[in-house]
Amino acid sequence: MDSLPLAPDSSSLCCPCGAKCQFMDELLNLRSEVNDLRHQVQTDALTGLYNFRFFSNILPLEMERTRRAAQPLSLIILDIDNFKQFNDRWGHELGNQALVHVSQLIAQTIRKLDFACRFGGEEFAIVLPNTDLYQAINVAERLRFAIDSSPLETGNDLIPLTASVGVDEFKSTHTDNPQGFIERVDAWLYQAKKLGRNLVKGPVVSPVDTNTNVTADEKEALFGVFKKPDA
Ligand code: GH3
Ligand code: MG
Ligand code: MG
Repeated sequence: MDSLPLAPDSSSLCCPCGAKCQFMDELLNLRSEVNDLRHQVQTDALTGLYNFRFFSNILPLEMERTRRAAQPLSLIILDIDNFKQFNDRWGHELGNQALVHVSQLIAQTIRKLDFACRFGGEEFAIVLPNTDLYQAINVAERLRFAIDSSPLETGNDLIPLTASVGVDEFKSTHTDNPQGFIERVDAWLYQAKKLGRNLVKGPVVSPVDTNTNVTADEKEALFGVFKKPDA
């Protein structure tokens, strides 16, 4: 998160008149408080991820960037499976630990430029700038796998967790607004739940349909591999 720069050495700072400014310490304290408050306003207190307020601001900004710069943008929505049962079985406190655990797995799995947000409850949204659908589906599958293969360790128990994941892309040619984009991804998440959970769902995509470093020559070469010998 951006923060206001702190002066390198407050003792050396002074008024234009040359005397050490009596307000400088206060100014620096205020600056530090503003940075803390900014962090709090953007952050989910339990998980340390960005909160819903931040998500609501960043998504329209990134969609606008996509419209202007024609860079792809993808959105992942991830929901922990059967979390009500988890709480009922293991208690709310362990439920909170599970949310922190999943958040850490998400933070470890995504790139620095991606924005991982707690969307609400046991649901997370990840905004992936400059990422097309093919790449985003790979990230989503990595996330699903990381959660499936990392049970929550507590005392003598290893408690399994899974999550369902919806993913879709916003292109500069798309006309939907942020709400519409979220609804598209949510519909894929719903499919993942309906089809049995612990799944990633999104539009069908193949690497050669995307701009993922595959040039026309490479496509030609790829398709050439599958040509019949006498063709
Ligand atoms: P599904 O697989 O369909 O998503 O089922 P689910 O049980 O995960 O979904 P449901 O919406 O029925 O229940 C969500 C549960 O998440 C219920 C709620 O108590 C729990 N939950 C939401 N926020 C928190 C939280 O901050 N801490 C804990 N421990 N539980 C939470
Ligand atoms: Mg759930
Ligand atoms: Mg949910």
